Amino acid sequence: MADAIETRRHVILGTGGTIAGKAAQPGDGVGYVAGQVSVEDLLASIPSLVGQPLEIEQVAQVDSKDMGFALWQQLATRVAFHLNRPEVDAVVITHGTDTIEETAFFLQTVLRPAKPVVLTCAMRPATALVPDGPQNLVDALAVTRHPGAQGVVVVCAGQIHSAADVSKVHTYRVDAFDSGDAGPLGCVEEGRLRLFRPWPTACETGSCDPVALQRIQSVQALPLVMLLTSHADADGTLVHALLSRGESASGPAVRGIVVAGTGNGTVHHALEAALLEAQAMGVRVVRTSRCAHGPLLTHPGQLLTVARSLTPVKARIALALELLEV
Ligand code: ASP
Repeated sequence: MADAIETRRHVILGTGGTIAGKAAQPGDGVGYVAGQVSVEDLLASIPSLVGQPLEIEQVAQVDSKDMGFALWQQLATRVAFHLNRPEVDAVVITHGTDTIEETAFFLQTVLRPAKPVVLTCAMRPATALVPDGPQNLVDALAVTRHPGAQGVVVVCAGQIHSAADVSKVHTYRVDAFDSGDAGPLGCVEEGRLRLFRPWPTACETGSCDPVALQRIQSVQALPLVMLLTSHADADGTLVHALLSRGESASGPAVRGIVVAGTGNGTVHHALEAALLEAQAMGVRVVRTSRCAHGPLLTHPGQLLTVARSLTPVKARIALALELLEV
């Protein structure tokens, strides 16, 4: 029995971000370069983790503002590989805060893992007077050890957020994430979890969804889905530019447009006219809201589809994956 416990492993995948950032001055919380410290060195700097059965892999070293499909493909492949190993209980991913909600949503949609996949991050670089990364990493590992934990979650500032609900809502505060009306899934206090809601849903066969993974592995790029915002004075200029981009006999290169509408997903009439033209040409158009909170409430007679409760950036991923039939 002791052997069985000792051979259980957690895998930590590093992708960069502020958690691995370095500044020239320890007091500098903004003038740093993200993705400088290896995930191995990050873990070695946390005394309580030394000697634990952790496997470490540096998948990338990027500022997550530069995140994209090629890295998501690589990350999903590595996560699936490790989750499929019977001796691996969980995967933790260190990531930048800027796009962590997009990566979490992508991984949850594609993999629906039956084991926990915990993304964590920091709002202060590793060189800060008081870096927040080490505590977030310790909390992330506490989440992975919780019986019944599953699915993709984000852990930051003592809170656990589900991939579907989390958004970065503050540019600077250490507590930068919010799960809107749903609220966090739980919190971590001195290594103990208090759960408020169920874990994200998982696939029913195996440790993650092999079909969706194969589909994203078989393409070079996601179908082109662009994101536009409705605002005062909005018009059709950008839609028309998109429609003429790479136009061929089979239609425009752009396959989808997500519009971040005002309020309950309303769109300026001049922009809406252009979006309806795009829709008539076969481009999938999806309405979301630029409001931070609240679902879109539909009513009869609406001409553009709505993404009921997804933020614009997550609706872009959902539509691209849908066009790929994931
Ligand atoms: N720009 C950084 C990144 O997302 C910010 C962070 O990590 O918090 O990688």
